[in-house]
Amino acid sequence: MKNNNEVWFVTGAQLLYGGDAVTAVDAHSHEIIRGLNEAGTLPVKIVYKGTANSAAEVSALFAEAGTSPACIGVITWMHTFSPAKMWIHGLKSFNKPLLHLHTQFNKGIPWEDIDMDFMNLNQSAHGDREFGHITSRLRKPRKVVTGYWQDKSTQERIAVWMRVAAAWADAQNMRIIRFGDNMNNVAVTDGDKVEAEIRLGYHVDNAPIASLVPWVEDVTEAEIDELIGEYEKLYDFADDCKPGAPKHSFVRDAAAQEIGLRQFLQNKKATAFTTSFDELAGMKQLMGLASQRLMAEGYGFGAEGDWKTAALVRSLWVMGHDLPGGQSFLEDYTINFDGENSSILQAHMLEISPDITKAKPRIEVHFLGIGDAGTCARLVFQAHGGQGIAATIVDMGNRFRMIAAEVEVIEPQPLPKLPVACALWKPLPNFEIGAAAWILAGGTHHSAFSFPLTMEYMEDYAEIAGIELLPVTKDSTLHRFKFEMKVNELYYMLNKSLQ
Ligand code: MN
Repeated sequence: MKNNNEVWFVTGAQLLYGGDAVTAVDAHSHEIIRGLNEAGTLPVKIVYKGTANSAAEVSALFAEAGTSPACIGVITWMHTFSPAKMWIHGLKSFNKPLLHLHTQFNKGIPWEDIDMDFMNLNQSAHGDREFGHITSRLRKPRKVVTGYWQDKSTQERIAVWMRVAAAWADAQNMRIIRFGDNMNNVAVTDGDKVEAEIRLGYHVDNAPIASLVPWVEDVTEAEIDELIGEYEKLYDFADDCKPGAPKHSFVRDAAAQEIGLRQFLQNKKATAFTTSFDELAGMKQLMGLASQRLMAEGYGFGAEGDWKTAALVRSLWVMGHDLPGGQSFLEDYTINFDGENSSILQAHMLEISPDITKAKPRIEVHFLGIGDAGTCARLVFQAHGGQGIAATIVDMGNRFRMIAAEVEVIEPQPLPKLPVACALWKPLPNFEIGAAAWILAGGTHHSAFSFPLTMEYMEDYAEIAGIELLPVTKDSTLHRFKFEMKVNELYYMLNKSLQ
């Protein structure tokens, strides 16, 4: 996680019970936050901003949180009762992620000693309901985490929200460079870029591929030598790609593309990009190897101009990059019908992140007969196994819809004649339901994929963004899924203020 991110914590109280009570609330809050920060479970530091005892204090706190570049979200907790009208103005003006923690300083009831002083102090069961009412009344998006603050399960739910809040903050500054437009006539990868900036925060820019060409041409032989040395440490080389072999020059050209592209994106302060096999004038090959390596570094990527997937790949990377497993752009390619084990081969022409394999990738060079792709270097590997999440965002005309599916990545058979990276997954609960739900929802053939992330991350993201989420899970049925889509259709039609 970006280490200068902060999550602010404010404890609701009031002066009704006297200054001693507020002093105790403050001391307990310090102890909770110290405990949370030292638990080692949370990826972002919590900064305690004190107790809030009046509307003026609440408003000042949220105004500061809203403008602080370090603050990526606020956690609220009502140790004691905090009359919620005092939260109205502050909450109304606040646009960053909000988490309402429903916990209690004391784990249990001290049966022998409990008296009315204890009750008046330890009444989050009471105060958190009052706060919940006003956040609901204001239709304020937020995550409610319930549980004892020392429990790992409680902390893990806070950690998920923190990772999503970090990705959300990152998206508000995300610039996506597109080399070329969407592939001609393709519907699902296109959409309203203005609405995306309003709703999701990121900015999409065009760059002619010609503007990248000089950056690649300026790369020196010494820079290429150095990068080839890095490739030799990390990857196997096919025999015809090794130094001195006939296809090695294509690997060197790809290395120049990687260096030039990285410098170009850094210069533009871009953290995501798209390519197109139809937009390659002046380039020696489609940027396969470069895209794979930059994706593993954290750049969002979408093929054929797919800027929405590029943005989502970047966001999933921010959420999950320091967790084990990896993230990548993927595409549904070919089905393997096999009853309950039916699966879909995920690949692309070239561009899959080596972040999702534990094997040593192999550099190969082959001709790619689509568009102007040419003879391209690429990393070839198979993804490791495990549960993951495939997600996409589509433009439904009146709203953005996120579709997120639980999938199980399994071992494919050897693929000796397929010279691209790939993953093989079973949609959950099975192919019949998982693939049908995705198609009924209008999901893309491209997706942003992550091993470590779960549906909870997608729920938190959709909540913060205020967009529709259709989850496809191990418990999905098509009957429920279709019902949910109909209800959502009505919800977004009626609830204009949320669009
Ligand atoms: Mn594609």
